[in-house]
Amino acid sequence: MLKYTNYDVVFQEIPDEVSLAINLSNCPNNCPGCHSPYLLNDVGEELSPSALDGLVNRYASSITCVCFMGGDAAPQQVANLADALHQSHPHLRVGWYSGKDALPDGVNTNTFDYIKIGRYDASLGPLSSTTTNQRMLKRNAQNKWDDITHRFRKGAAAL
Ligand code: SF4
Repeated sequence: MLKYTNYDVVFQEIPDEVSLAINLSNCPNNCPGCHSPYLLNDVGEELSPSALDGLVNRYASSITCVCFMGGDAAPQQVANLADALHQSHPHLRVGWYSGKDALPDGVNTNTFDYIKIGRYDASLGPLSSTTTNQRMLKRNAQNKWDDITHRFRKGAAAL
């Protein structure tokens, strides 16, 4: 069961989008120096499709995207929620921040418009760092993934 601990409207997690970012708990990744250790435990409220709808409806007129932060213990369930969101709110894009280094096998990732992959490694830095191991991917019209990580660098030109 997916659970969420908190959420916020954010501007920098996905380029050119105003995102409702929802933090999912029960993270299995155990990155050294984890920046959000409270997400390692199976805590929070269930994020059922109806709970998600309730959250999104509060902000639907002011956001352009919904971004799931985490959920690597159950990636198919995250993909299913993304699919449901596209049906209930077709004007919204859907993003996913995964802490894995690669897209999950056997999961229909085409339900997402954006995916961040890459474990947290403090020595390499976040998406805005030139040495980061993380990648922000954007799905294009051919259902292929374009790497748009450069958009997080200072002074990057708009796409
Ligand atoms: S993916 Fe994020 S929450 Fe999970 S262990 Fe790594 S830093 Fe912590």
